[in-house]
Amino acid sequence: MNISHHFDDATLMAYASGSMPQGMALLVACHLQWCASCREKVSLNEAVGGTLLERVKPAALDAGALDRLMDRLDEPDVPAAESESVEYADPEVPSPLGSLLGCSLNGLAWRRLGYGVHQYDLGLSGPGATRLLRIAPGVSVPHHGHRGSELTLILRGSYSDELGRFRVGDVADVDAEIDHQPIVDTDQECICLIATDAPLKFSGLVGRLIQPFVRL
Ligand SMILES: [Zn+2]
Repeated sequence: MNISHHFDDATLMAYASGSMPQGMALLVACHLQWCASCREKVSLNEAVGGTLLERVKPAALDAGALDRLMDRLDEPDVPAAESESVEYADPEVPSPLGSLLGCSLNGLAWRRLGYGVHQYDLGLSGPGATRLLRIAPGVSVPHHGHRGSELTLILRGSYSDELGRFRVGDVADVDAEIDHQPIVDTDQECICLIATDAPLKFSGLVGRLIQPFVRL
C-alpha cells in the first residue's frame, strides 16, 4: 500500500487524547492499521500525554515546573505497547471496521442515494455521522463544504478533488475551510469510509436540491 495522504497532527493528537467522536476515532484506528508513520505519531502523543498525567500534580505547577517537566519528557521512557494486530480475512477492510460490519464490503445492505452513489450508514452515536459511500466510476459527490471536520479513508478505488488524488489507504482530513467536489477517477468504483462531526453543507444547486433527501 502506497499511502501519500495522512491526518493533520491536530487530528492525531485529538485521537491520542481520546477526545474524538466515536466514528472519527474508528476511522483513525483503521488508517493506523495500515500506516506506520501515523502510528508512530500517535504513540509519541500518547507517551507524552501519559507522562504528563503520571508525573505532574496540578498543585506542583510553580514557576520552574514547566522547565522540569520538559526535562523529564526528554528522559527515556518505556515505549507505548504495540497495539494487538488482529488477523482479518478481508484485506479491503481494516479490522476495527471489519468487526463492526461482520461481512465484506460487497455483502453490505447498501442504500441507493442517487445516480451512482450508494450509502451504508454505520449508525454510530455521536454528533456527526459515520458512513460508507460507494461511488460509481466517473461520478462525483456534489460540491460541498463543512460545518465541522470530515475524515475520509479510501478502502477501494480512488478519487480526485481540489486537494489531490486519493487512493486506498489515503485519508482526507478536511475542516470548515475546505470546499471540495470529489470525483471517481478510474473505471473502478470507489468505496470510502467517511466520518463527520457535524452535517455537511452543500454549495452547488444540485447539492442543495438533494441534501434534504440524502441527509449527508
Ligand atoms: Zn498516515
